Amino acid sequence: MSRVYNFSAGPAVLPEEVLQEAAEEMLDYKGTGMSVMEMSHRSKAYDKIIKDAEADLRELMGIPENYKVLFLQGGASTQFAAIPMNLMKNKVADYIVTGQWAKKAYQEAQKYGRANKIASSEDETFSYIPDCSDLPVSEDADYVYICENNTIYGTKFKTLPNTKGKTLVADVSSCFLSEPVEVEKYGLIYGGVQKNIGPAGVAIVIIREDLITEDTLPGTPTMLKYKTHADADSLYNTPPAYGIYICGKVFQWLKKKGGLAAMKQYNEEKAKILYDFLDSSSLFKGTVRKEDRSLMNVPFVTGNEELDAKFVKEAKEAGLENLKGHRSVGGMRASIYNAMPKEGVEALVAFMKKFEKENL
Ligand SMILES: *Cc1c(COP(=O)(O)O)cnc(C)c1O
Repeated sequence: MSRVYNFSAGPAVLPEEVLQEAAEEMLDYKGTGMSVMEMSHRSKAYDKIIKDAEADLRELMGIPENYKVLFLQGGASTQFAAIPMNLMKNKVADYIVTGQWAKKAYQEAQKYGRANKIASSEDETFSYIPDCSDLPVSEDADYVYICENNTIYGTKFKTLPNTKGKTLVADVSSCFLSEPVEVEKYGLIYGGVQKNIGPAGVAIVIIREDLITEDTLPGTPTMLKYKTHADADSLYNTPPAYGIYICGKVFQWLKKKGGLAAMKQYNEEKAKILYDFLDSSSLFKGTVRKEDRSLMNVPFVTGNEELDAKFVKEAKEAGLENLKGHRSVGGMRASIYNAMPKEGVEALVAFMKKFEKENL
């Protein structure tokens, strides 16, 4: 068996210990004689899996009592509709558009009410985070929406926007559990787990209880109402059971690693190795405004498309996979999520140095 360093943006690298544990439990989960994949979601064994997963997530993020944790299906993209359907009481919401994912959410919200784009960084291909200290937040906005870490462009909000008292909603798909969060600053935090937590197929929504009501937009499907899933502790129907089990294992792995403060420190050390090299390189350069750089997704270019393609190809041959940038931006992107070991980033930089020498 040989594993590569996988820099994929998602689905992405998972902790090797977690995969090994799952492999050991594959045929017989703790003496049940069956795999978690084969188990009723109403069984005692599964009830413990999902309850423990929620408890560990609450502990890791310090989620207050008055927030619900929902394990859902449909990826992050289903939430682009669920959020307005559940939260747009006045049919008004303000969106800060800092990339493709925020833009998609903004476009979807337009189907359900008045979605206002109150800031954007599209003028410079989303390479920065706009100043959000004094935006024209709508008087009657039901919420202000951000995508906190922009997976494709490699930017991250270092300070949250001033929402002028309005509810903050954040897509944290690609920075979930990468650093400590102050949950009480948000009304709703959500993400698909396949970037930084677990296997594709699970979305986690953390929502303040007062935002969960029967009063959704007319026609909201039962499955898209937060109340449906909150009332049933995420077991209204069959949840993505195996995926939640793996998420639970990742939560335990994170606790063993020292929790989110320790993770942040580790992620900063890893990202610094790569950014320091990019800042000193005469061939490669980062594409993002320095103060807005993400710790998770690091896009870079040589400035020459052919050379970029050569780099991606030769890196793959050296066991450094999935470094091609998103199809909308080109160049390269290294996603260095929680489960990417520091050795992986060091190996990447060593390879970049070698490539630079050979190609300058
Ligand atoms: C990947 C991604 C999405 C889309 O996730 P799906 O689960 O594929 O719907 C949305 N937002 C962000 C920030 C992402 O990185």
